[in-house]
Amino acid sequence: MNRGDLIVRRFGLLFFGSALSFLASILPTVTAHAEYPDRPIKIVVPFAADGPTDVVTRIVAARMEQTLKQKIQIENVTGAGGTTAATLVARAFPDGYTLIAGHMGTHAAAVPLYPKLAYHPLKNFEPVGLLAGTPILILARKDFPAANLKEFISYVKANTDRLNVAHAGVGSVSYSSCELLNSLLKIRPTGVPYPGTGPAMSALIEGQVDYMCDQIVNAVPPIKSGAIKAYSIATPERSASLPDVPTVKEAGLPEFQAQAWNAIFAPKHTPAPIVAKLNAAISEALDDEAVRKRLLDLGSIIPKTPDRTPTALTALVTSEIAKWTPVLKPITN
Ligand code: ASP
Repeated sequence: MNRGDLIVRRFGLLFFGSALSFLASILPTVTAHAEYPDRPIKIVVPFAADGPTDVVTRIVAARMEQTLKQKIQIENVTGAGGTTAATLVARAFPDGYTLIAGHMGTHAAAVPLYPKLAYHPLKNFEPVGLLAGTPILILARKDFPAANLKEFISYVKANTDRLNVAHAGVGSVSYSSCELLNSLLKIRPTGVPYPGTGPAMSALIEGQVDYMCDQIVNAVPPIKSGAIKAYSIATPERSASLPDVPTVKEAGLPEFQAQAWNAIFAPKHTPAPIVAKLNAAISEALDDEAVRKRLLDLGSIIPKTPDRTPTALTALVTSEIAKWTPVLKPITN
């Protein structure tokens, strides 16, 4: 064999060897995608149980289990307005077994509120799919001395030093939307943080706090039972689940517009086929009649098919960061 042949042979072997090790390296991943999920999936809810994010996530996840043929465990990890859990999941192994139910707070409003946020909603996550839109309502304890929004506004302006507003931590939806409301009304009440609006709602029902801005899914049952007061809904239209609650425009504060949303995110670099499987399972759940009824009865807005893709969620997060940054930066900095 001459020198040239030897070089060609060596290169050939080298190439063959690298090709083999390349195949060996991707094979388990490819097979893993095909078999995914072969063990339970964990969805971290960044707030306490029984709050809006928890409720929406559990309704959809229970139906996703049928499609994915695997258990989905919900873990409530609270703290820092949801950013503790989001930081944890951003650092989790990107294999599709650890996900987060993020929302307008953790994946948008937290950006201007935490200058040293340990994650970026898009740089450190793969958007998987939107679960539900959740309008915000202005709520108060049932014996709050105001019969309608106009009276509420006069009362809070006159008594701001004596008032407590409940929220789920800096960065949460309840915090950010009431910061917006309070800045529009030019009032500075005392904020009382809870690990989620589940426990915050219990405090409101018990009269331990005066008012709160919360997502509709948490508010429909206590409004209907008369356990709390609702002054208005911060969306252009009334909700079919609360037909008697006027819009902010009808009630006299049209500039207060706030709608939250809840969505599933995976750590960055979660393989695309896994994201696609999870996204399809969400979409199938959102088409299920029983799931739709439960979500709609609680006033949530079910995303239409084109709004359910990871690309649509990326666009939503981008526009929400752009929307909330100028609103919250001047208030908090
Ligand atoms: N979504 C939160 C919860 O489930 C509350 C919030 O963001 O205000 O408790």
